[in-house]
Amino acid sequence: MNIKRAILFTPLFPSRFEGMPIGLLKLGTYLNSAEIETNIIDLTSQSANRLPSNDKLNSIIDDELKEIVNPNETFIGISITSPSLLEGLDLANKIREKIKECVIGIGGVHLRYEKNFLNNPMTSSIDFAYHGNALPYEKIFSYLKGNLDPFNIPNFSFKRDGKITYTYDCVIKDDFLLPNFNLLTEPSIYTYGILKARVESRKVTTAQLSTSYGCHHSCRFCTICNSKPPNIQPFNEMISNFEKLKYQGIDFIFFDDPTFTDDEEHTELLLNALTKIKFNWACQTRIDKVNPKLIETMKKAGCQYIYYGIESGDKIIKEFLNKPLENNLIIENIKSTLQNGITPSLSFIFGVPIENESSRINSYELIKEIDKIGIYNNGISPLISPSFYAVYPGSNAEKDLLSSNTNLDYFNSYSREKIWTSFDDGYGAFHYKDEMYAKLVLDEFNDVINKCKYVKAIT
Ligand code: SF4
Repeated sequence: MNIKRAILFTPLFPSRFEGMPIGLLKLGTYLNSAEIETNIIDLTSQSANRLPSNDKLNSIIDDELKEIVNPNETFIGISITSPSLLEGLDLANKIREKIKECVIGIGGVHLRYEKNFLNNPMTSSIDFAYHGNALPYEKIFSYLKGNLDPFNIPNFSFKRDGKITYTYDCVIKDDFLLPNFNLLTEPSIYTYGILKARVESRKVTTAQLSTSYGCHHSCRFCTICNSKPPNIQPFNEMISNFEKLKYQGIDFIFFDDPTFTDDEEHTELLLNALTKIKFNWACQTRIDKVNPKLIETMKKAGCQYIYYGIESGDKIIKEFLNKPLENNLIIENIKSTLQNGITPSLSFIFGVPIENESSRINSYELIKEIDKIGIYNNGISPLISPSFYAVYPGSNAEKDLLSSNTNLDYFNSYSREKIWTSFDDGYGAFHYKDEMYAKLVLDEFNDVINKCKYVKAIT
């Protein structure tokens, strides 16, 4: 094999989080710099909030593949999560039908927990799978150039002579490679659900990056809780990346550090650097990891949006989720966020296994309390997004499922009805509650939001 051209895809999938495909982007950045000409086709963000259509997929594939001159020198990479697995396989099959000789590889965060993936007959179009979190770029590159035996790539499974081999486990430290954002063909589609109003003005001037991976906390539904302690980017590297972005004309950064203000020392260094280099930026963090003084400092450093996972207004649900945030603290910090001219974007989880009418009402009451804060002179309102309790591979929620003798079946067509596209983590995931329940919650939620004066829903 001697790959000279790579096309990296995400599948057509109705995700509500319109963020950049960072894993693919980093792989593309590496391959491109190593002289494998690479394109990134991010169908997930192009199809956000819409159910996938076969006609659309066929025409996109035809368009993208018609430029391929040497199929046997072409690598097709597909990044999936467990909810988008079926759409990823569909994409792989359609590509294989059209170009038999290309190499097709698949990867994505949830494949870490499914080492037998290639043993399933539904994966027959795929040549190899990567089962790690961070990628060993150099090894993958050498393999694609025919210079490395795949037995030497960790967390890797491949087919050879009709046999499927899994190599060996190895924890690869997350890297902080600065992506080449120019590889994205449509930069204006990345709105993260919260930046829609800025789309026209952002274009190629937005970057998405992390300065840390992992989190100290262990919320029941979250897969990031397995990455402890968090891996933090060295300060000099961080500054150098910021300077490069500034030089490239980037003026807005979406930080996808799981908990931006988790580590006090890192937060202080980061905010000092951002104050000097001057970007506008958005981040996500826990609401109990900020306070009025810190929020004021964040604003001075350019912060425009903070995404807080509030999850619930109900004490018992919060304890179940292992995220016991006090309602008083939630209100105080949202107030402070608004006062400082920062948009608070808030997520509430419904469909928790022990949820009942009373616990839902407690969440709605908290939303009404947030609405009562009102708005300040800056006119900024809180945004709220409804999420649904989903079980993902590697989370403590999956351990609960296993203890009830139920396996998470990666190849199952979970929650494919349209109603689920109205919730974050709704479509394509295992839920304890059914479609009718989702409809009930959505009606109740919309009713509460429609009666609010200031709070707006993220649709
Ligand atoms: S939900 Fe947030 S705070 Fe909780 S474990 Fe995940 S990243 Fe950490």
